Amino acid sequence: MKKLCLTVLAISLIGGLSSISAMEKPLNIAHRGACAYLPEHTLPAKALAYNMDADYIEQDVVLTADDVPLIIHDIHLDTVTDVASRFPERKRADGRYYAVDFTFAEIKTLKVNERIDLETGKAVFPGRFPLAKSEFRLASLGEEIELIQGLNKSTGRDIGIYPEIKEPAWHREQGKDITAIVLKTLAEYGYQTAADKIFLQCFDFAELQRIKNELHCELKLIQLVEEDFVVEKVASYAFGIGPSIRQIITGTDPEGQPIISDLVARAHKCGLQVHPYTFRADSLPPGMSADKILQILFEEVQIDGIFSDFPDISGQYLKILSLKKPEKN
Ligand code: CA
Repeated sequence: MKKLCLTVLAISLIGGLSSISAMEKPLNIAHRGACAYLPEHTLPAKALAYNMDADYIEQDVVLTADDVPLIIHDIHLDTVTDVASRFPERKRADGRYYAVDFTFAEIKTLKVNERIDLETGKAVFPGRFPLAKSEFRLASLGEEIELIQGLNKSTGRDIGIYPEIKEPAWHREQGKDITAIVLKTLAEYGYQTAADKIFLQCFDFAELQRIKNELHCELKLIQLVEEDFVVEKVASYAFGIGPSIRQIITGTDPEGQPIISDLVARAHKCGLQVHPYTFRADSLPPGMSADKILQILFEEVQIDGIFSDFPDISGQYLKILSLKKPEKN
């Protein structure tokens, strides 16, 4: 009996040493702000996320015609603003309105709404903030950083930023180096080293390697992924990965039990943190509850952070978890 206990102790010690990242408190990352409650990527959605115990707040970044880094999820303006009724003649041949065709001053005049499905004109998430109510505007990267750094000063907290460089290859086709502009803005606001409270994310494998190897950026880089990739290769330049939750919980078996991949374990083995996207309590996989997903991610496979549309729910789960399992560092 004693021998068995010692063996168990030894195994748990080895396990503990080999996954140091998993021992730290996982991060609550507000995806596009508290976008379950207010229109995504507006400053009110970011302020609400700040007050919901987010550790980091996300910014998706595209460029305007006058090279202002703009916080918006898509290179298009028409799914979240009234651009089509305000500037009907400014659409491209494909019928879409592109942020890069408008100046920042023009974009500032647009009203922001909940994300709509362009085909139906209806809200993508019908239970969220009503369409065409109140008034919201888009913001620049600088404006949003000033909001978060301002709140850090006034509250005494230290909440980080989590920008994503959107579609760098497409921007290059438009004659723009979005990465250079984003890195310059980040540096102006004091984000330059691995110790700074920031993760920089991108889906483009070549661009993230360029950021590390050619631009010698010292920030912690997160490689976003949506399909298979070589974990060891990514570990050579990135701090972590951002996979879809579907790459971790891949489905359910005939008994209705979740099927869990070995992706998190493989990434941890290579020293990569894992921050999956996106926890949505109002859009859950069939047969799964919000609690079950969080339990699998935080307790079974032990991810290091989560992108959450509901930073209140993920934050509350993490609070309870930290009471169960005191932080070790
Ligand atoms: Ca994003």
